[in-house]
Amino acid sequence: MLNRYDSTPAGAPGRLESAVETLRKHSDYTLIEQKPATDEQVLRAHTQNLVEGVKRDSHLSKMAFLAAGGAILAGEIATKGEPAFGLIRPPGHHASMDSHWGFCYFNNISVSLLHLRAMGLIDSAFILDFDLHEGDGNINILGDDKRFVIYNPDGDGDKRYLADAKRALDESPDVDIIVASAGFDQYIDDWGSNLSTDAFHRLGLLMNDFAQERCDGRRYALLEGGYNYKDLGKNILAFCEGLRGK
Ligand SMILES: [Zn+2]
Repeated sequence: MLNRYDSTPAGAPGRLESAVETLRKHSDYTLIEQKPATDEQVLRAHTQNLVEGVKRDSHLSKMAFLAAGGAILAGEIATKGEPAFGLIRPPGHHASMDSHWGFCYFNNISVSLLHLRAMGLIDSAFILDFDLHEGDGNINILGDDKRFVIYNPDGDGDKRYLADAKRALDESPDVDIIVASAGFDQYIDDWGSNLSTDAFHRLGLLMNDFAQERCDGRRYALLEGGYNYKDLGKNILAFCEGLRGK
């Protein structure tokens, strides 16, 4: 699912195109379109004040509700045991209940998880935030609830980073679903100058292994950062291949 928008690095023209083109060419992937989220769905994660503020800009509002709707759709697909990737923008992990920054407006992860819980589809989740930047919004909205485990791995280079992510997953209590705040700005040729394309593949595989062993294959991911437009498609595909166990 996809939506286009805005002038920040997270929404700039060209950012999603390489990913759309890469995935469109691949016969194992189906691009589907989402409906916008409803006010009720967004208000599970945010204050009325924040939602009203976003609505003041009609173009931004349209895109933010579409991104949150894409997150919900990806989460719903995942509850059936099918992997899904939300190719959405604006991103969401820096959006807190009543404030937002870092190119984020609505917290897509939180809107989707709280929707799935309200529908009785899940009660608990592991949130693997592998963006270069810790998702303070995820922590603000979900962090006080012990049924949500949030982890932002750390480590120099593929080996240390992946070992840290694996340790956190191994130490996790059982949960109903795993979701990634999937940022690709740790990439070696992006802001973080740290991870290879293969590392994103391995992160996908780690999530798939976790999901198969611990939560009936329920796994999905939502796009957060990643500013090397040329390689973003390649890195997203590598991650998605891992996420589906390939
Ligand atoms: Zn980031």
